[in-house]
Amino acid sequence: MSDTERIKCLIIGSGPAGYTAAIYASRAELKPVLYTGMQMGGQLTTTTEVDNFPGYPNGVDGNALMEDLKNQAERFGTEVRFGMITSVDFSKEKGGIHKVTVDNDKQIEAEAVIIATGASAKYLGLESEQRLIGGGVSGCATCDGFFYKGQDVVVVGAGDTAAEEATYLANICKKVTLLVRKDYMRASKPMQARVERTPNIEVMFNTEIDEVLGESVVEGVRVFNNQTNEKQVIDVTGVFIAIGHKPNTDVFKGVLDMDETGYLITKGKSTKTNIPGVFAAGDVQDREYRQAITSAGSGCMAALDAERYLGSLV
Ligand code: FAD
Repeated sequence: MSDTERIKCLIIGSGPAGYTAAIYASRAELKPVLYTGMQMGGQLTTTTEVDNFPGYPNGVDGNALMEDLKNQAERFGTEVRFGMITSVDFSKEKGGIHKVTVDNDKQIEAEAVIIATGASAKYLGLESEQRLIGGGVSGCATCDGFFYKGQDVVVVGAGDTAAEEATYLANICKKVTLLVRKDYMRASKPMQARVERTPNIEVMFNTEIDEVLGESVVEGVRVFNNQTNEKQVIDVTGVFIAIGHKPNTDVFKGVLDMDETGYLITKGKSTKTNIPGVFAAGDVQDREYRQAITSAGSGCMAALDAERYLGSLV
């Protein structure tokens, strides 16, 4: 182990939630140190076009947006460092010091911690799918559906998210084919009923993707029926994978309260976790909305909560 450093406010994660928390925390003189994790800038760095972040009337490149947020946080004195939080030892006492380890080496002691580690969309893992992420394969219909206006798309999944994404896309796209691996959907009855009521959604049961077709952009999918092995090609320009998300919370297991999927649980309308002085913002605590702007909004809340918490100690 190397040296230990004592700071006032630690922010974990460099997505919209982390950087927004950093802007507010640094302007409030909390002198935050922000660790970026492996994905500097978060999920938006994997997309080229962000059309729905307020303040950019012509849309903005995901990397450019995150660079803007980083620069804004640094302008007020946030120290942005590259590194992963690899273990935590949070104090259960109000006013206690929270210890974290960075990259299995450096020790940080912080009076307040804001967790903004995000959630990652799950993918099928096919080589062709991975190659075409950003070229027609997406994990977010609300984010990317607009680009497929009037076109044909497939949605993969059988739960509430898949049903919701399919009905959302049906409003925008010409036809939505919902690919369900089993012979039934896991979605709630009302969600299934919505799918059934939507005329331009076709559900194909027992159907899985064999390959996403296309070199640099999606041109179709080859699917197979897992009962008969029969294959067919569906011509589509968009493939939406809706098989769930995994919150990045492994490092907090057994320490912070989380739901059955691993999303951190926050108290009421606040960003407070079950540990005094530890706050959670963004996708890591939000299974419902998962948007850049909602993450940024809760990052702001977390910084305000942290500021009030620290203020209450003196
Ligand atoms: P994230 O952006 O996920 O950032 C998490 C951060 O935590 C990362 O920097 C990561 O490195 C860090 N981290 C994780 N674990 C650790 C650790 N142990 N130690 C230190 N750091 C850690 N939303 C929109 O509003 N509009 C869009 O157009 C849009 N398009 C999208 C396109 C794609 C392809 C994807 C995947 C998502 C899109 N989204 C969009 C959703 C949006 O990106 C997320 O809602 C948002 O990024 C969540 O922000 P966040 O700050 O909570 O987390």
